[in-house]
Amino acid sequence: MLTAKVTELLMDQINKELYSAYLYLDFANYYEDEGFEGFAHWYEKQCEEEVGHAMKIREYLIDNSISVKFEAIAKPDKTFTALAQPVKAGLEHEKYVSSLINTIDEAALEAKDFRTMEFLNWFVKEQLEEEKSATDLLTKVELLGEDAHALLVLDGELAARK
Ligand code: MG
Repeated sequence: MLTAKVTELLMDQINKELYSAYLYLDFANYYEDEGFEGFAHWYEKQCEEEVGHAMKIREYLIDNSISVKFEAIAKPDKTFTALAQPVKAGLEHEKYVSSLINTIDEAALEAKDFRTMEFLNWFVKEQLEEEKSATDLLTKVELLGEDAHALLVLDGELAARK
């Protein structure tokens, strides 16, 4: 049995994951405008992952006989003036998402909702991956700085993300 609080947090997390998808697609738009199709592709794939996260939580709620309701998804409102900025914003965003997962986990622990805690373990591990891949990409982009040739090589590498 999920408490009202845990249910509300999970429902809100669906919204946050879909916002993440929207945010990353917005990053992809920026990179398309700048002519970096590999970076755009990388964030398109990231967008797909985020939709997958939202679907996972939706399915969990449905499996627990909860009627899922949606709220509006916020508009991504950042403007970028440098190639590294979306990558940096992405890392900050993933740290924020990790904190949200922790908050839900805390509420589940408080409610002795071990089922939800078990469900959330996947997300706890996933957030480590998300923060790591964002950190790795940021390290590379910052290292390359204004080196256009090297950035285009990296762009080619990012285009290969499955
Ligand atoms: Mg996510």
